[in-house]
Amino acid sequence: MSAEKVVIFDTTLRDGEQSPGASLSITEKLKIAQQLAILGVDVIEAGFPISSPTQFDATQQVAELVGAPATGPVIAGLARADEKDIEAAGKAIAAAKNKRIHTFIATSPIHMEYKLKKSSDEVLKMAVEAVKCAKGFVDDVEFSPEDACRSDISFVVEVLAAVIEAGATTLNIPDTVGYILPYEYGRIIARLKSETKGIDKCIISTHCHNDLGMAVANSLAGVRNGARQVECTVNGLGERAGNAALEEIVMAIHTRADFFESDDVKTLLTNINTKEIHRTSQLVSRLTGFVIQPNKAIVGANAFAHEAGVHVDGILKERTTYEIMTPESIGLGGSRMVLGRHTGRHGFEDRCKHIGFKLTEAELERAYQRFLEIADKKKEVFDEDIGVLINDEIRIVEKTYELEYLHVASGTGTLPTASVKIKIKDEVKQAAACGDGPVDAAYEAIREATGQSPKLENYSIRAVTGGKEALGEATVKITEDGRTHIGRGVSTDIIEASARAYIDAINRMVATKDKGQPPELKAEL
Ligand SMILES: [Zn+2]
Repeated sequence: MSAEKVVIFDTTLRDGEQSPGASLSITEKLKIAQQLAILGVDVIEAGFPISSPTQFDATQQVAELVGAPATGPVIAGLARADEKDIEAAGKAIAAAKNKRIHTFIATSPIHMEYKLKKSSDEVLKMAVEAVKCAKGFVDDVEFSPEDACRSDISFVVEVLAAVIEAGATTLNIPDTVGYILPYEYGRIIARLKSETKGIDKCIISTHCHNDLGMAVANSLAGVRNGARQVECTVNGLGERAGNAALEEIVMAIHTRADFFESDDVKTLLTNINTKEIHRTSQLVSRLTGFVIQPNKAIVGANAFAHEAGVHVDGILKERTTYEIMTPESIGLGGSRMVLGRHTGRHGFEDRCKHIGFKLTEAELERAYQRFLEIADKKKEVFDEDIGVLINDEIRIVEKTYELEYLHVASGTGTLPTASVKIKIKDEVKQAAACGDGPVDAAYEAIREATGQSPKLENYSIRAVTGGKEALGEATVKITEDGRTHIGRGVSTDIIEASARAYIDAINRMVATKDKGQPPELKAEL
């Protein structure tokens, strides 16, 4: 029996980036796209090019850099069923060897009536025109009937048959609002597969949102019923409650291949190198600022931690008693090498490569300098520390403000005070303030020095590794004018990590404000 492949379509850079506050700079998107290629995803949806000049540039650069090899992933650009959108997508992905335009229009009564203000006949016509137009740019065209799951399925059958006729090769069935349950979704896919004319030549795809916590279950129900592409995001990022988590989909297919086997369904496989899952998850988490919950399936910190005595005993005797996957299968474990202050540049570079970071000369230099600073304070530097450091250094936004100096005094019965020096281009501004606690005082001083006072929405700190010398990683979420920005900072000193995170968030806020860009158009797919 030969195996059948499930195409992994990653939309971390498009749907995932639409998570509030997850906006990424172009450099960050490129880093993620490179890692996605190493992970082995088949398709990277790089952006929604018409939505803003930055989205266009980002998609174009991903197409040029990651889409260059003939064996590389397909680079997809999203477009509404509109000529201008399709043209922008076509231009943005032009440099990729393998490219796809993904166009969509809503087919549910509620969306057609209230959002599009169009009749079903008009929608059908627009869908066909869009696919024909996309065919003028690429061979590989994907079509999505947005909000398919709340649509009249006979109408979806009609639209799909028409777009197949027009040349669409992948048909994606989005559960845009995360409303469907697995059994229903499976039935929809089965019905579309059996009733749509010409669908045998095409790939059916899933795109499920997690509003009821069903995104992965629905996607797999789709696969069980004949879908052979899954749209998903790393760590399940995405609008609202998010999209289907790539790592869960892939590991479910790998671990439970038997579930998908039957008389007419052969063994399923994906092109994913599962050993890259953990690394990819960490990179996306750090660059987007979205912390992974410890109990998150596959990639959470506790996913492979067995603590209860009886489990540990079982695991020691025979791993499979309580372990359905090995930590090694997602790239955890293996050798743990410790670096210290005497580690040279070469040793550091080798270690970075070993844990999966390919850095440019400039990035390596910055990371090495930070490593030396940290190795000075912390005797043993672990792989996890290096990962955090590098991610901190490549989280590149223009550094309008840089922390030069921080001094905080606090204690029982004293009023916490902080003084800071902030470098602003060639100038250094100094400020001092007091607050309810040391972090509050530091933030007040930073607001004073920078003249920026965004609303602080959320603040958290975690230790990267165990022990009292652990690196602290702070994450802050700020808002201004309805936009959210997430900042991160690391240091052996948690107050300094907190100050760095706050300044990082402010730099991100200023970077979008200075360009005077209107809020990006969102594709609610
Ligand atoms: Zn979506």
